[in-house]
Amino acid sequence: MIVPEQLSFFALDETQTVITKRQGTHPKDDIVWSYSRREALEHCPRKYYYDYYGANSKTAKDEKDKAILQLAKSLKNRFLRSGEILHLVIRTYLKGCQNDKKWSDNGLIDWAKKIFQEDRKYSSSNDYRGEQSKQKFPPTRLLEYYFQHQDAEALCLESEKRLVQAIINFMKSPELASFHNGASQPNAKIEKKFVLQNGIFRAQGQIDLAYSKEDKTVVADWKTGEAGGAEESLQLTFYGLWAVNEFNCVPEKIQLFRVNLAESKVQQFFLTNKNLSRAKAKIMQDLERMRMLHSYGVNANAKAFTPCGQTKICALCPFQGICPKE
Ligand code: SF4
Repeated sequence: MIVPEQLSFFALDETQTVITKRQGTHPKDDIVWSYSRREALEHCPRKYYYDYYGANSKTAKDEKDKAILQLAKSLKNRFLRSGEILHLVIRTYLKGCQNDKKWSDNGLIDWAKKIFQEDRKYSSSNDYRGEQSKQKFPPTRLLEYYFQHQDAEALCLESEKRLVQAIINFMKSPELASFHNGASQPNAKIEKKFVLQNGIFRAQGQIDLAYSKEDKTVVADWKTGEAGGAEESLQLTFYGLWAVNEFNCVPEKIQLFRVNLAESKVQQFFLTNKNLSRAKAKIMQDLERMRMLHSYGVNANAKAFTPCGQTKICALCPFQGICPKE
C-alpha cells in the first residue's frame, strides 16, 4: 500500500505544457491515469478506444478511419460545451479578483451567452460540416446540429439557460461568498493542472480552486449537473491526494467541496487516510485494465473495445456517426 508520503509531484509550468520533475521515477511510456480517462472507459470502451487511440495521431497508425475519427473528436455535446464555457468565465472572473479587475455579473453573462450563441450559429449554418474554422478562437461544432438531432435548437437553448443560471448562482449565492474571498488571496490556485507520480502510477488532473483558510486548505470543484455519486467522490479524493502532498499535511487539514452551480448547493467531503488508500487502489485497478487493453488500442483493434450501445450515452457521443453501436 502506498502512503501519501511516498507520492511526489510534477508541477506544470506556466504554459502548462512542460513538466518539471521534483522527485520520483516512473516508466515514461506508461499510461497516465486521469478521472476523465477512467470515466471514458467506464461509460463506453469503444468511445475510450476512439478517444485515446483511433483519433490520436500519435498511435493506432493502422486505424483506417483516423481522419473521420479526428473530425468527430472535435465535436462537442451541449453539456460538455456549456460546462467548458462556465469554467472559462469563472476562471476569468476569479483571476480578475486576484488582480483587482472585477467583472460585472452582466458582463460575464453576456460573454458566456455570446460564445455559446456563436457556437450555435456556426453549428447550424450551411458550412458547419466543412473544415474547422481558421479563426484564432474558432466556434465549436455542437454535435446536436451536426447529427441533425430533431430538437437540437431547443436542447441547446435549454443548455444556454442553465449556463446563465449557473453563472448567476455563482455570482450571487451567499453559500459561495467564502469561495470568492478565498480565490482573491494572491496565492490561491485557480484551475491548476498537476501530475502526480509515485513510482507505481502517474496520474493527472486539474483543481478548480484551492486556497488556505486558517490552518486548513480548501479545495473546491465546480459541477453543473445533478448530485454526484461514489465515482465523483473518487475525483474529489484524488484532488485531496494532490492537496495532501502539495501542502505536505495530514488529510484532516484538507476541506474538499463539491459545488453544484445549477442548484447553489455546497457539499463537503471528509478526507481520511482510509479513503485516500481506497482511491489509490482504484486508480491502480483502473490502470491495470487500461494497460491490458493498451496493445489492442495501439494495434487499432477496435473490435476489442465493446460499444456500450446505450441510447442516452450514444446521443451525446461525438463518434455516433461512425460507431457500429451493436
Ligand atoms: S456511439 Fe455509443 S457505443 Fe458508440 S462509441 Fe459512442 S457511446 Fe460508445
